[in-house]
Amino acid sequence: MTRVTADVTFLRDYNQALVMAVGRTARTFERSTVVEATGLTPQAVSKVIARLTADGLIRPAGRRRPGIGKPAVVYELVPDSRYAIGAHVARRTLRLVLVDLAGTVHHSAVSPLPRDFTPEQLLDALSTGIDTLAGIDTLAGIGDLRSRLTGLGIGMIGPLDHANGLVRDAHGLRHWHDVPLREIAEKRLCLPVHLDKDVTAGITAEAWRHGATFGDAALIMVESGIGGGFWLGGAAHRGAHTNAGEFGHTVVDLTGPRCVCGRHGCLEIVHQHAAEAGDVAHAARVLAVGVVNLLQTLDLAHVVLAGADLLRHPQTYLAAVTEAVGADARRADWLSTRVALSSLGADVIAAGAAMQVLDQHYGIPELAPI
Ligand SMILES: [Zn+2]
Repeated sequence: MTRVTADVTFLRDYNQALVMAVGRTARTFERSTVVEATGLTPQAVSKVIARLTADGLIRPAGRRRPGIGKPAVVYELVPDSRYAIGAHVARRTLRLVLVDLAGTVHHSAVSPLPRDFTPEQLLDALSTGIDTLAGIDTLAGIGDLRSRLTGLGIGMIGPLDHANGLVRDAHGLRHWHDVPLREIAEKRLCLPVHLDKDVTAGITAEAWRHGATFGDAALIMVESGIGGGFWLGGAAHRGAHTNAGEFGHTVVDLTGPRCVCGRHGCLEIVHQHAAEAGDVAHAARVLAVGVVNLLQTLDLAHVVLAGADLLRHPQTYLAAVTEAVGADARRADWLSTRVALSSLGADVIAAGAAMQVLDQHYGIPELAPI
């Protein structure tokens, strides 16, 4: 019996996710749009629409009169019906954003974290930050935020185990070995928590913003190190141990300087030496070499550039990577790759972490069929 119940629940949630995906990508939709886009039966779609309307997630937005037959009810997503908070945990800062069901960022705030912060210090900062966000809701006219808060998404420095919510060994932080962050954060903050690598959260935000047109992509983040987040085959790619993205530790110079990881000439250390010498143009060209290597390996449609260190010189990096992609890779005309700066700027990681929470509860963006 348990098995049957579980399957029914799964199917219900799955159908609901399909309808939500249509609602999120289309401005307005009607029952027949959903039937066409999802392949569900009209009866199944009616059931889901009734449930989502009752929960306040979608609402009728008028009627469309077709050529013949009854006028069709047009529905729309209710963006302010649910919110999620996203956190970007970096080595020295915590950024928190508030994101609505449609993926719009409403507030963004950065606070400093103590040097070499402990898990307890991070939880303190998260707790204070969330209270502050919940406190300014009346200011923004959002009203009772707590009751519409779906959860907290944390995008953090790795390596980490996304599936089990464990921070394995955060680079450069001494107090973070096998810390069950998801569990202790849920207990302390009384919210569902989703934990992922910063770069994976970031590429999720870009995929949300681009919708169904987003092909295979990488988000390259330069922020006290270099990481890569991947969107492959319509979903975030985390790898066999959820540790994909250590892009900065691919070697570009066999006789280069020794890296923190123990090897010589990693992209990250070669880039860092150029940046520390004040040669931003050279640092950007080093990064570009890495990006071209990635394109040759994965054949990507989009490369998104992000991260605080990169965004201090956005045009230099954008120009260097665009030029290298055009010139260095032996690519035919039909192999086009779009290089762009993150459409959400410094908020991209935190916003993506919040979107991951909304995904988990209300939808599967990669299933967005229209
Ligand atoms: Zn390395």
